[in-house]
Amino acid sequence: MRYYVQDRGDSLSMDLAEQFHRLAEEQGFILDAKSPEIVVSIGGDGTMLQAFHTFIDQIPDIAFVGVHTGHLGFYADWKADELHELIKLMSNGLDTSQQLQPRIVEYPLVDLEIHRKSGVTSMVALNEFTLKGVDGTVVAQVDINDITFEMFRGDGICVSTPSGSTAYNKALGGAMIHPTIEAMQIAEIASINNRVYRTLGSPIVLPKHHHCDIFSRKSQRLLLTIDHVNMTMDDLISVRCQVSRQKVSFARYRPYPFWDRVRTAFLD
Ligand code: NAP
Repeated sequence: MRYYVQDRGDSLSMDLAEQFHRLAEEQGFILDAKSPEIVVSIGGDGTMLQAFHTFIDQIPDIAFVGVHTGHLGFYADWKADELHELIKLMSNGLDTSQQLQPRIVEYPLVDLEIHRKSGVTSMVALNEFTLKGVDGTVVAQVDINDITFEMFRGDGICVSTPSGSTAYNKALGGAMIHPTIEAMQIAEIASINNRVYRTLGSPIVLPKHHHCDIFSRKSQRLLLTIDHVNMTMDDLISVRCQVSRQKVSFARYRPYPFWDRVRTAFLD
């Protein structure tokens, strides 16, 4: 098995990465930073976001596994003291006769097409895309399926994937969406609502065959975030968001249902 490890860079995560390499070598796994089949992220959900963007061009060929070295994560569900068990299950998975291949679960992503005066850039979000003002209120027109939906004024707009619905979207009052649902959610960040300006005020969920365009409607400096990646620009024309045709794969060597993770992360 060709594998790669992305660690968070703190001493515990780096130690665990070393330990993982030793155990992996004993099992005959091959460290391959160019075209791994499995990418193990050691750290937190933020580390998984980094791993995802590191291998963004190879997403269809990779399955991700997450080990957390802090609190339980949504992408990182193996504990630091479970490395031996994880490696054992991973090596069992190589033996097809034992029928222990991991279950691959696929989560939806959001495709972004960023139109600037300088050109068009395509990106993919695992958690979310946000558009925020750098100097003040954002003025943006939101179209859904090429029809104007609303004129937004406020701090910004967040468009999240189902697996990202437990992250920034949750802080904005968005709903948590099970990742088997192929959808994206648009949530407002502090919209201005009064007698003059009006937005819907509720998060909305779009199915996979819909798209949304967010047009910059004044000369403004904007901060665009795609997961942990930040970009500031003053020449944005629009951003098209839609549920991606590609999905990200996670190798599940044992079941850990989404709602159990939600309960453990937020309620227990
Ligand atoms: P960060 O500011 O260092 O971490 C943000 C927190 O979000 C971390 O605790 C991270 O978990 C957690 N997180 C990431 N993905 C998650 C998910 N899918 N479900 C639940 N929690 C999740 O930034 P970062 O590590 O670079 O991560 C960027 C992410 O931060 C963005 O994608 C955005 O979702 C999130 N964020 C949240 C808020 C907010 O809630 N108000 C504001 C800005 C950004 P770990 O500790 O396990 O890494």
